[in-house]
Amino acid sequence: MRILLAEDDPIIADGLVRSLRKSGYAVDHVANGADADAAVLAQQFDLLILDLGLPKLSGIEVLRRLRSRKATLPVLVLTAQDGIEDRVRGLDAGADDYLTKPFALPELEARVRALTRRGTGLPTQIELGALNYDQVERIVRVNGQVVELSAREMALLEILLLRVGRLVSKEQLVDHLCGWGEEVSTNAIEVYVHRLRKKLESGGVQIATLRGLGYCLEKPGGSDGRV
Ligand code: CA
Repeated sequence: MRILLAEDDPIIADGLVRSLRKSGYAVDHVANGADADAAVLAQQFDLLILDLGLPKLSGIEVLRRLRSRKATLPVLVLTAQDGIEDRVRGLDAGADDYLTKPFALPELEARVRALTRRGTGLPTQIELGALNYDQVERIVRVNGQVVELSAREMALLEILLLRVGRLVSKEQLVDHLCGWGEEVSTNAIEVYVHRLRKKLESGGVQIATLRGLGYCLEKPGGSDGRV
């Protein structure tokens, strides 16, 4: 999952980037509206967290431009405490949800999970053979046993689950797992895949390597595996 954060307050931005990265999201940060507008045009994101009070181009204008292009990117708007009008304008302009500053990080993360889930169109529980993935709680079980995954392994599994039975290239994985300025090599991807494979192998979950191309999470027994 790749998130764009548009926030001009460096302290808030820094805290959000850190905590979202810790949860396994790839996060890119811009500090003004013009950069936010350019970023959503240039790159595919799964969520935009948008402060409304931004320099150069207001958050509302970024949102209007986005929706005028019929983009379906989910948008979580951040507003000032007394900004009831802002909130209404944000929702009118096409925001999917809003949070009032100051907010607690767990609340933000809950909203982020809800919005990115909506974006994937997947059910909250995904089953693939003996593997069960709860998208809301972000818990993975194999044969009913909880499997501990690192944030990166979890993010990797999410991407593969979104494309069960299809090829995912290493470049796509790097793109989804890393924000700008974060260095993750394709060799590191190999290590994450190796670890994930080990942790899921007892459930018969197969991550096939297609040499030189990428990876594919295989459907068990020919069914499409989703419930
Ligand atoms: Ca601001």
